[in-house]
Order: sequence, then C-alpha cells, then structure tokens
Amino acid sequence: MKRLSNLLVVIIPLVLLWACSSHPYSKTNRDHRQQAKQYSKELRQFPPRHGGDDSLHYGPIWVGTTNFNLRKPNYVVIHHTAQHSVDQTLRTFTLPRTSVSSHYVIGRNGEVYQMLNDYYRAWHGGIGKWGNNEDLNSSSIGIELDNNGYEPFSEELIESLLDLLHVLKDRHGIPTANFIGHSDIAPSRKVDPNANFPWKKLAEEGFGLWYDDIAVTPKVLGDSLKVQDQDLTRTRQLRVAKSEVMVGGSSTDSLDITINPREALRIIGYDTSDMPAAVRAFKLHFIQKDIQPVLSDDELKILYNLYQKYL
Ligand SMILES: [Zn+2]
Repeated sequence: MKRLSNLLVVIIPLVLLWACSSHPYSKTNRDHRQQAKQYSKELRQFPPRHGGDDSLHYGPIWVGTTNFNLRKPNYVVIHHTAQHSVDQTLRTFTLPRTSVSSHYVIGRNGEVYQMLNDYYRAWHGGIGKWGNNEDLNSSSIGIELDNNGYEPFSEELIESLLDLLHVLKDRHGIPTANFIGHSDIAPSRKVDPNANFPWKKLAEEGFGLWYDDIAVTPKVLGDSLKVQDQDLTRTRQLRVAKSEVMVGGSSTDSLDITINPREALRIIGYDTSDMPAAVRAFKLHFIQKDIQPVLSDDELKILYNLYQKYL
C-alpha cells in the first residue's frame, strides 16, 4: 500500500506536467508570463530609468508618491476577425510575426477567450483616429468577434459580448458613447464589424449611442426625403417636421434646420479628412442597409439627431 501511494506521488505530477505541456498554447503562455514579468520589473524601478533624457534639469533628490494606480481603458473597439474559426484567430494572435492581438476573442458559440490583461496595450487598432485621439490602442480594449466578415453574428456570440461589455463598463467606468467599431476609427481602411452587427441592440443596453426613431418618422414631407447629394462638404438646409427634432413638436408644423455633414461627423468623432470614407463608416454603423458615400435627407436627419447627442 505504501509503495502504491509512493508511486502515485511520482505519477500524478508527471501526468499533470504532461497535460500542461500538451496544451497547444503552453509555450505562448510561458512567453507571455516572461514578457509580463519584464514589464513589471520596469514599472517597479525607482527612481525611474532615464531614457536618454539626461538633458532635463532634475532636482537633487528623487521623491516617490503613493498617490497612484494604473491607467484605465476608456474605449472599447469592436472588430470582426474576417477568419473562419476562433482557433485560426487564436493562432494568428499568438504568432509574433503577425504583430496583431486583442484583449478578448469571442467564438461563434459564445466562448470568451481573454488573451491580455485589460491594462495592457493590445495591437488591434492600427492607424486610426477618433476625435483627437490618434492612439486608440493606448486607451481602448479590443474585442474580436469570430466572423468571416460577411455572415450574421450568432446569438450566442452577441449574448456573450453583451455580458462582457457589462463587466468592462462597470469595471472601468467606460462612457456610453465610447463603445465603437474598428471602421469608426479607421474609415478609409476598415469595414469591421460588418453591416450585420447589431449596434442598435448594443445602444439599447448602454453601449454606444443611437438616434431617436422619431428623427426619421413620420415621413410627412414627401419627395424631398429622397434627395441625395454627392457634395458631402456642402452645408445643407432641411425642412423637417417639428416632431422630428423637438419633443412635443407637431408632425404637421415644419422647421428649417441647417447641417454641415463634415462638422457633424467630426463632432461625433469621425476622421473627416476623407469624407466619402467617413460617410461610408457612419452609414455602416448607423444605416447599415446602404453604405454609398452619399447622404439622403433621411440620413442627414439621423446625422443631425446623433450629432446633437455628441455635442
Ligand atoms: Zn478590426
């Protein structure tokens, strides 16, 4: 009996060791820990190391403060993977040569993979801009959704995403308006998440803003609603029903409003240096049926309603 228990003492750790090393990502996990350790070491260093800034006129003593914590993410950027499986994405994000990653990956079946601590900077945004923020990777959490780029998002995936967003919003106090898509921050380069993404449902749960339905109904003004304008930089005037822009306004009284699409998109956050791209990104997020770089009067009313919320 004693011999058996001795044998088990030897065998069990060996089995555990084998189980761990057979994990397809065990090497990556080891490297991840090593890298994290390196960064922790750097953060712990006091006085902080000079990075070639010896020309600065430092005082004669070093003074540390205890009044600090870690910087928090303030945005969530949502992506689709444009790949065929969650395994393919996990592999892509663990290959050093790809230089891409995200904090979370959500599979079609709703499984959530966390690949990085929220406080680390993932490489998911690339070159982009939202408002005056040109380094979204430094201030955001990236979430990649398992989707080939064209298909609808599975119900399980969206349910898991909403659960995760609730956790992140509570944990970091992320403002409602700061839940955005990759195409929003990189209009001329990116089209994710695709037009099937339920932005309205997210906004109903407190993640991102949405326009008031009243802004596009009732359609009482006939043909002018169908007008499209290719000149995206021109200030336009619209005659709208009062009920479309004012609480308690009547649908029979009309009102003239003035809107400059470039200014309105800029206030929402879009980089408007390429206006057709900015309009396409706006429509991918808020219109979703058509993403041509033109703005109908209906779409302008949606833009007008939204930009007032961002003011
Ligand atoms: Zn993306």
